[in-house]
Amino acid sequence: MLDENCIFCKIIKNEIPSFKFYEDKNFIAILDINPIKEGHTMIIPKEHCPDILDLEEPIHSELFKTAKKIGKILKKTFNSKRIGYAIEGFGVDHVHLHLVPIDKGYELNPCDSKNASKEELKETLEKIKKNIN
Ligand SMILES: [Zn+2]
Repeated sequence: MLDENCIFCKIIKNEIPSFKFYEDKNFIAILDINPIKEGHTMIIPKEHCPDILDLEEPIHSELFKTAKKIGKILKKTFNSKRIGYAIEGFGVDHVHLHLVPIDKGYELNPCDSKNASKEELKETLEKIKKNIN
């Protein structure tokens, strides 16, 4: 079920534009418009659910399978040592997993997020798309 007041539900229904580069039956992956680092992505389940602990199986485990697939693409694209995962959900009340290409643990810091321009985000999207088979 979707929530008509939720920004992520609107993105899923394509009512609001996003920088989306992946979609399957259960999830979308879009760029965070306030990235911590270039390539900062969010994987969002299509079902509206505020708390990760309330995500039904198999969606909960599928989220991590999808994260592995997307994470590998990001790691290759941005040549990072790791992909940091973060889930907190205080910004938008709809489960989303942040994937951030990082080289050091302290880089996974939401306080370092800054607004990216549409041009920067388009450029990032093109880089990622080149590594999607
Ligand atoms: Zn929602």
